Amino acid sequence: MVGGGHNGLTCAAYLARGGARVLVLERRPIVGGACVTEEPWPGFRINTYAYLAGMLSGRVIDDLGLARHGYRTIPHDPEAFLPLPDGRSLTLWSDPVRCQKEIAKFSQRDAAAYPRYLQRWSEVIALLGPVLGGPPPSLRQLAEQFRGPDYERLLRDLVLRSAEDLLSEWFESEELKAALGFSACVGAFTSPSRPGTAYVLAHNSVTELEGRAGAWGFTVGGMGRTTEALAAAARGFGAEIQTGTGVKTFLAHDGRVVGVETEDGHRIDSRVVASAVDIKRTLLSLTPPELVSDEVARQLRGFRTCATTLKFNAALRRLPRFSAKPEVPGPHHQASVMIGPSLEYLDRAYECARAGRLSDPPFAEILFQSAADPSVAPPGHHTMTCSVKYAPTRLAEGAWSDHRAAAADLVLGTLEEYAPDIRETVEHAQVVTPQDIETTLGMTGGSCFHGDLTPDQMFSMRPFPGASGYRLPVPGLYLCGSSAHPGGGVTGIPGRNAAEVILADLRQAAHTSG
Ligand SMILES: Cc1cc2nc3c(=O)[nH]c(=O)nc-3n(C[C@H](O)[C@H](O)[C@H](O)COP(=O)(O)OP(=O)(O)OC[C@H]3O[C@@H](n4cnc5c(N)ncnc54)[C@H](O)[C@@H]3O)c2cc1C
Repeated sequence: MVGGGHNGLTCAAYLARGGARVLVLERRPIVGGACVTEEPWPGFRINTYAYLAGMLSGRVIDDLGLARHGYRTIPHDPEAFLPLPDGRSLTLWSDPVRCQKEIAKFSQRDAAAYPRYLQRWSEVIALLGPVLGGPPPSLRQLAEQFRGPDYERLLRDLVLRSAEDLLSEWFESEELKAALGFSACVGAFTSPSRPGTAYVLAHNSVTELEGRAGAWGFTVGGMGRTTEALAAAARGFGAEIQTGTGVKTFLAHDGRVVGVETEDGHRIDSRVVASAVDIKRTLLSLTPPELVSDEVARQLRGFRTCATTLKFNAALRRLPRFSAKPEVPGPHHQASVMIGPSLEYLDRAYECARAGRLSDPPFAEILFQSAADPSVAPPGHHTMTCSVKYAPTRLAEGAWSDHRAAAADLVLGTLEEYAPDIRETVEHAQVVTPQDIETTLGMTGGSCFHGDLTPDQMFSMRPFPGASGYRLPVPGLYLCGSSAHPGGGVTGIPGRNAAEVILADLRQAAHTSG
């Protein structure tokens, strides 16, 4: 197994549980990949990269007994808090009636439409959940699930429409559309006004936490507790995990991958190799070039790995005071705080990033995990992670390393408009750029989800047609990370599905040779 991110660990745990001998090789000194919690300042547990729980498959949690290994979550309530520059705010509670009252402050009509919208969205989750949890369906298999005019409309919405068009059909309030449309930009480098983003919105709604469909929240102790629990489960089933060991190349014999050579020169033979590293790095850097056809190389060039993010992570001496809700602490500190008052604002931020600049003003999602989970900060202190969604992989001018201070200043300057005391609250801060993500985690282009989550790169088209079923077009090589169906996010599903395919192939090979 190459890569000890959450999918590599999940795959390893299932393989070991199925009776295979498994060795996980992880380049970093710690496991977890993008799903880690680190302590850059004593006592402050910071989610360096991923920060929100909700996508991890319930089946993975149960099968691998993650609760026994300390995995626990806290669903958000309120779910979202959208402060506005004019001092108003919109809070989305998990209780629909409470939520309707909030929405009515902006539009009575939208408040009336909201329960029907939630109902429609729960149908989407019920339809899409099994599709995302199972093996990658072909377009035809997908279309067959959407029979009749109502479902056909839904299919059109999901595959062809923009989030803006979809939301505008339901609502008139720009603020509500912004709060609901926010996640249409997560995992895809595109603006909510572009076709295909309705799918991204739907994809990011297929979550579940503590039995609540559609919920997001915190992992108690930080996201890293998830991968610590996965590693403990994998070891418990007999897998060996070796950190600090990077793989330099795959070994090939007779056109087949038969093992790996590590960066420190060790050769390890293996019946199969599963890669949890993104598809471009897997096939273009680690695989001997003679095993990768020109056609495959062409498909890989077309696979978009542009969706990245800039993180501003901080240790706080206290929680900030939002002008729109002066209460400190308040329930809104436990929500996803969204900076981005309209879809048009998001659109402008996207155009800025497309031109090679950090979006200015940036649109961002902020979490104060310590407000809901005090275990992540020293008593009385707090943590803040701020994820700026539109950050270009490469800047038009200069390198990211030269723009850290300017990025921090832009983030704090923007937050000041909503929480004027924010600068006084910051004790320590770090800026994690797309370049850092690429260098530290090996994600091509800093692509957080190992490839954009747009409909043309999903299902049997992920990572590209002909390579979607976890078996790569190189004998002996499998893909078990986020470039495989159903894509990125801390789901564990690519790892689990790949393990099923590998175990089936190993059994078949044993049967044939025996
Ligand atoms: C900034 C950021 C924010 C995110 N926010 C969220 C969020 O809030 N919620 C959510 O659900 N998802 C989020 N995501 C997405 C999610 O974290 C990822 O999709 C997921 O963690 C990827 O898991 P993985 O196991 O597929 O790959 P990775 O986590 O990328 O793991 C791959 C592993 O391979 C290792 N590796 C690389 N090259 C080699 C090599 N040559 N040899 C050995 N090892 C190697 C890496 O060190 C890494 O540990 C975020 C991602 C990022 C980057």
